[in-house]
Amino acid sequence: MFNFYNPTPPTDVYQAQSDSAVWMPYTQMSQFQPNLHIQRASGVTLYPTNHPHLIDAIASWWCVIHGYNHPNLNHAITRQLDSFAHIMLGGFIHDPILELAHTLSTITPGNLKHVFFSDSGSVGVEVAIKMALQYWRNQDQKRPKLAYLMGGYHGDTTGAMSVCDPIEGMHQLFAPLLPPHIGLPQPPAWGCEATLIHQYLNEVDSQLASCAHELAAVILEPICQCAGGFFLYDPLILKGIAEICNRYGILLIVDEVATGFGRLGPLFACELAGITPDIMVLGKGLTGGYLGLAATIATPLVFKGFFGGNEKALMHGPTFMGNALACAVANASIQECLKPEFSIQIQGIQSQLMALHTLNEYPWITSVRVLGAMGAFTFANDIDSNAIQKFAISQGVWLRPIGRVVYTSPASIMSDSELKKVIGVLIDIGKKEKW
Ligand SMILES: *Cc1c(COP(=O)(O)O)cnc(C)c1O
Repeated sequence: MFNFYNPTPPTDVYQAQSDSAVWMPYTQMSQFQPNLHIQRASGVTLYPTNHPHLIDAIASWWCVIHGYNHPNLNHAITRQLDSFAHIMLGGFIHDPILELAHTLSTITPGNLKHVFFSDSGSVGVEVAIKMALQYWRNQDQKRPKLAYLMGGYHGDTTGAMSVCDPIEGMHQLFAPLLPPHIGLPQPPAWGCEATLIHQYLNEVDSQLASCAHELAAVILEPICQCAGGFFLYDPLILKGIAEICNRYGILLIVDEVATGFGRLGPLFACELAGITPDIMVLGKGLTGGYLGLAATIATPLVFKGFFGGNEKALMHGPTFMGNALACAVANASIQECLKPEFSIQIQGIQSQLMALHTLNEYPWITSVRVLGAMGAFTFANDIDSNAIQKFAISQGVWLRPIGRVVYTSPASIMSDSELKKVIGVLIDIGKKEKW
């Protein structure tokens, strides 16, 4: 093999430059602290330069679902690379995308059959929104609005932002760009009394009844609002909302970008409620966290709503749509998900994570949630997430709290002993009142 560049660059020298040359996400750059410089990653372990290795407890924002440097995923990419890396989808088709579309239409619940590919979760959501709006337009119905749940997150592009929680999604900041949609209240937390569930569904019912005629779709994250702090709500609520949408003839878009591929136990969170949406969006874990790829999958009803003249065709087409390397690695990743070991591993992770419930005894912890390969707890008061991160790093674990929420979303392949270590660090964090 040729090395066209020095594989171990003098990191100290250009660390100072890169600190400001790379504009970091959600970061106040004037106070930016140098990042750990990752040289290698394997399994659930990150190997930073000049630093002891770390267990990644959050799987790179919960997308590296089978761990880093997975031999089968690596192989799928290099094999495809021997043929070609990318080809425009305008007019062409290729094996990896055909296989992936077929697999997705088989493994997703219900009648989701037609897959539109794009390159990130946010764009996948944009496509779902355009699909819903244009679907109604094609039927000569004026339905320009969407409804979303408070507390939700659907991405950082403007269409996606317009259906995120207005505070968390910072609607104020970008107000001129964001069309006003209809915010439904955040559901009560999983574990609440049945009467609260009924009350909530009645509220949603009356709110949707009043604007059903102008609504194209309801968009939501099923069961778990992840970026909003791993907030869980009862599957009966999802089922109830799906029934209400059905009754009023409103499309249901389920954003499984975060929950898809086993994060909450079953392959898709919809299965927990036994519902089948009109449109589903997948991303993050779709490629095992290797490459950007999203899938927006529609039922034949939605798909056929686009039949007719050219003006009725779906008006979207990203350059890297259906990238062959991304599709190839997605196929390999899904093969891993379909092995019996995968769901056994997730079940094992869930039972181990139950240990987090000991944190319930501390009055400063307001709630502890565990479902599938996800564990989270919330502090009653503000916390210094940098201090928590530093402590976790000193214990050999990589965490990144969201607001007052500390969470883990490990890769399925995390071993019992690695997870035990992660849980120990999480419990030590939760035991301490002030951070
Ligand atoms: C991460 C996420 C997105 C956005 O995906 P990107 O690939 O970051 O654009 C959308 N919806 C949900 C539920 C997510 O968790």
